[in-house]
Amino acid sequence: MSDTKKGRAWIELDVSALRRNVNALSGMLPPGCELMPAVKANAYGHGAVLIANELAAMGISSFCVATAKEGAELRCAGIEGDILVLGYTHPCELDTVVKYDLIQTAVSREHAESMSGFGRELRVHIAVDTGMHRIGERADEVERIASIFRMRGLRVEGMFTHLCADDTQKTSDIEFTMSQAEAFRRLKSELAARGIEPRAHILGSYGLLNYPELGGCYARVGIALYGVLSDREDRVEHMPTLSPVLSLKARVTAVKAVGRGEYVGYGLDYRAERDTAIAVLSIGYADGVPRALSDGRGGVLINGRYAPIAGRICMDQLMADIGDIGAASAGDEAVLIGKSGEREISVYDLARACGSISNEVLSRLGARLERVAVR
Ligand SMILES: *Cc1c(COP(=O)(O)O)cnc(C)c1O
Repeated sequence: MSDTKKGRAWIELDVSALRRNVNALSGMLPPGCELMPAVKANAYGHGAVLIANELAAMGISSFCVATAKEGAELRCAGIEGDILVLGYTHPCELDTVVKYDLIQTAVSREHAESMSGFGRELRVHIAVDTGMHRIGERADEVERIASIFRMRGLRVEGMFTHLCADDTQKTSDIEFTMSQAEAFRRLKSELAARGIEPRAHILGSYGLLNYPELGGCYARVGIALYGVLSDREDRVEHMPTLSPVLSLKARVTAVKAVGRGEYVGYGLDYRAERDTAIAVLSIGYADGVPRALSDGRGGVLINGRYAPIAGRICMDQLMADIGDIGAASAGDEAVLIGKSGEREISVYDLARACGSISNEVLSRLGARLERVAVR
């Protein structure tokens, strides 16, 4: 085997797909807006350092992550430019923010106050709550927000809000999104009247695809950059051509005959109804393959043909019934997400089969998987 990473179980990253997605999404940016790719959660499972390095090579110089530690990982790998930590950082972790020159989100005035006492100057963006009721000061609390800009020890460079119903074409969702945008716009002008004019941003993937006219200085794009939407059925106003970046593969470690009436795996869930054959794969739920795909609710591709998962997915392994697919041998590659010959299993298929969205399936892909860039 020439590529030592393609041993047990691995992710392949299609770098040209990533570049096409970057180009397509860049072409949709409103004036004055730049991409700030969301590379949190290990770049939605793709591998944060690999993805950020590829994006940096494409000229991208702003990134957002969820935690200070994720930001530090990027800096340690040599990523330059702005790195915004979108989520809460406890005052006991502020060392990391300063040491790695990260920009920290203030999730509330109290959070800002606790950071202002840190002793060294911190770069900050303020989170603004325009209706999601997750993090942020309420947009109508102008004085509370203005007071953060005046706090000693903080260099407040920006503020942002997050849209939480921007992914459908439902009238009620559109109206809600408009109310969020209006609350944010009003706050901006109230602050401007007080001489405060921070960088402001509002769009994520669905914001960019549905409401590019809302503008802002950054589009914090995650899922679309990886070439998929959250759900296959989602419809957006401006749909670019997106190409999935990630494939998930594992090795067939053994092929064995199983006689009619014999069992496979834990709990005797699977009992062969006929003489068949089973392929054993070196990947399991600890690698992020959802256990909900057990018992044929999911499958794998081997040599371009589909084999349903037999029995329960194990922590580190799983079995597939290859009775219908002809020849398969130990050492073959099995595809869990991606293409094999003419066939494809998409991340949407996995998400649908386990009642989730592509974001969750991807971001749970585990640290044990090797990640290989394919050019
Ligand atoms: C994760 C996140 C994003 C990116 O969302 P996508 O829908 O994946 O583009 C943008 N903004 C905030 C605040 C986030 O937490």
